[in-house]
Amino acid sequence: MTDDYKHKGMRKKLVQVIKGKGIVDIRVLDAIGKIPRHFFFDNIFVEHAYQDKAFPIGEGQTISQPYTVAFQTELLAIKPKSKILEIGTGSGYQASVLKEMGAEVFTIEYNKILYQKTRRFLPQMLGYNPHFFQGDGSKGLPEFAPYDGIIVTAGAPSVPTDLIKQLKIGGILVIPVGNNQKQKMIKLKKISDTQISKKEYDHFSFVPLLGENGWATKV
Ligand code: SAM
Repeated sequence: MTDDYKHKGMRKKLVQVIKGKGIVDIRVLDAIGKIPRHFFFDNIFVEHAYQDKAFPIGEGQTISQPYTVAFQTELLAIKPKSKILEIGTGSGYQASVLKEMGAEVFTIEYNKILYQKTRRFLPQMLGYNPHFFQGDGSKGLPEFAPYDGIIVTAGAPSVPTDLIKQLKIGGILVIPVGNNQKQKMIKLKKISDTQISKKEYDHFSFVPLLGENGWATKV
């Protein structure tokens, strides 16, 4: 697959769209402007790659809307070398944005087929090589904790306490919480071992977080 002037032009327009919706972090906008999102799509769907919308990636899952990726990433306030845990690898697009911004990324995917596909595809096609894991990310990834940031890319019924435990002091958790249709974006900051600050943002619509601290069965 190539990344030619036509794709670059569409990408520039996408960045303008996201900027117009309120994303201000230049590093987030630069990362989205750099990553060839059409590489994540089958050839026949390439024209969908630079529209600001989610798109099916198989297994009943989606690549998140670019604005949503930008919004969650901005909330994470990443610094180079930040240690970030992503729950819900999916296509690997969000992980690519985090890698492009210089973070050390641990990413976990519940679905075995997507895990296998993305862990091959991402280093080969884009040269990004986060640490890939397969399993129930609703419990986090305690072996590598603590993290500077945790981003959940599926809708949770509530905030899993396991995830808060795995944050560093000063660390940020970004998670959509709500029902199966609609979730409120929540940012939690761990001020101390006993103190957490919480901010709520707009509503989004994610596929459900599965697993022990998510929706236990497929919904
Ligand atoms: N970040 C992804 C991307 O950039 O393409 C978007 C992923 S999609 C909106 C949500 C993903 O979360 C799906 O791939 C789904 O299989 C995964 N997921 C759901 N529950 C999970 C869990 N408990 N642990 C890990 N992954 C989970």
